[in-house]
Amino acid sequence: MKKPRVTVVGGGLAGCEAALQLLARGYGVDMYEMRPEVTTGAHRTGALAELVCSNSLKSEGGDTASAALKDELDAMGCRLIALARECRVPSGSALAVDREKFSAAVESALAAYPDFRLVRREVTEIPAAPAVVACGPLASPAMAEALAAATGKDRLYFYDAVAPIVDGESIDYDSAYFGGRYGRGDDYLNLPMERDEYEAFYEALVGAQTVVLRDFERKELFEGCMPVEEIARRGKDSMRFGPLRPVGLRDPRTGKGAYAVAQLRREHAAGDCFNMVGFQTNLTFPEQKRVFRMIPALCNAEFLRFGVMHRNTYIGPRALDATFMLSGREGVYVAGQLSGVEGYVESIMSGLIAGVNLARREEGRQPAVPPRTTVSGALCRYVAECGEPFQPMNANFGLLPPPEGVRGKERKKCYHERAVCDIIDFTRELEFR
Ligand SMILES: Cc1cc2nc3c(=O)[nH]c(=O)nc-3n(C[C@H](O)[C@H](O)[C@H](O)COP(=O)(O)OP(=O)(O)OC[C@H]3O[C@@H](n4cnc5c(N)ncnc54)[C@H](O)[C@@H]3O)c2cc1C
Repeated sequence: MKKPRVTVVGGGLAGCEAALQLLARGYGVDMYEMRPEVTTGAHRTGALAELVCSNSLKSEGGDTASAALKDELDAMGCRLIALARECRVPSGSALAVDREKFSAAVESALAAYPDFRLVRREVTEIPAAPAVVACGPLASPAMAEALAAATGKDRLYFYDAVAPIVDGESIDYDSAYFGGRYGRGDDYLNLPMERDEYEAFYEALVGAQTVVLRDFERKELFEGCMPVEEIARRGKDSMRFGPLRPVGLRDPRTGKGAYAVAQLRREHAAGDCFNMVGFQTNLTFPEQKRVFRMIPALCNAEFLRFGVMHRNTYIGPRALDATFMLSGREGVYVAGQLSGVEGYVESIMSGLIAGVNLARREEGRQPAVPPRTTVSGALCRYVAECGEPFQPMNANFGLLPPPEGVRGKERKKCYHERAVCDIIDFTRELEFR
């Protein structure tokens, strides 16, 4: 049977990976990319797979979630990570690339397929199936409106105001206790601070270095959500009436209240990670580490993701299934940052899963979602299953079921090794490649 042509909207990281997966499986691809005629405000060129900011695809060595995700992508036959390695520039254990070479390599890989067609045009409607919509965090307003109409207006988000997420294992539980305000429930992990600790924290926070927002981001972000450092700047005590308010909280071990209390909420039922409630922030990543570690219970905290505030269009919870197919639109997939993952490599992963699953669906084969013990599988399920409050998610081991009985440094190694074993079994069992 003749394979249908597939429409891919967006020639970014996710769109290019999805297209390469489809072309390799014998599908013709019509890719629509609006640049350079219509710009996003952040891209600088008309090149495909342009890296919009840093040239780093994060770590490759060691037992990090980012390294595990790359190993999983290799096992699944990812094209963009392989091309990135060909364009590598020295950067320690990180996979950093020459961004122009990388775009050129992706463009020639696509152009090598006679069935690939590139159309430089903005798409303003969700295309008919089979299709992959991968318009990215800066999707054009017309496409964003079309997606809002298809998913429900309250399901489409236009910016991120994300608080940091802390690895549960790195918290000092001697300086923390579980409990809700006024004795209601025990959903929160409370981190008390004495007056001198609070004051030192306040001084560090108001003096810390922040990321410079772009013009198109500044207004919408600050109208939507106040960063914690901005709350602090409004007065020395303002945080004690906001995210650090101590009222209704007493340490059950001493019966005493504290001068200020930060609260953490479990981020994910399966994993061991906590969200810092009300700590959406625009501090640079090193500053977040330095300043938030001044909260006594977080003195050795490992941050699984840092807080960010930026323009980011993404589809909210439960509008996609774990193969990134749009609910109510059979055969239409949404990939990349628009799907609710966060980061270059995560976007590439979702493009791969969407492209492969689109092809499998056309061929009447069962869907293929990596196991939940892998970083890619955990992210696919996060997008499909996480409810409100939904935040776009990057690769982190906190999303995976913790390996039993392993603690400390060994735990990361265990996560990594298990993910690699399980992805290899998965690709074999499902004849994934
Ligand atoms: C300012 C900014 C900086 C970022 N920095 C980093 C970073 O340093 N590291 C990191 O890991 N992640 C970063 N991200 C997050 C994310 O990883 C990147 O945005 C990544 O490029 C997402 O991949 P994508 O394929 O989803 O979208 P993109 O790579 O943005 O691709 C989407 C493409 O769709 C096109 N398009 C949009 N609308 C239409 C339309 N209607 N019709 C046709 N074409 C359309 C766009 O022109 C674009 O080429 C950043 C995000 C932003 C907004």
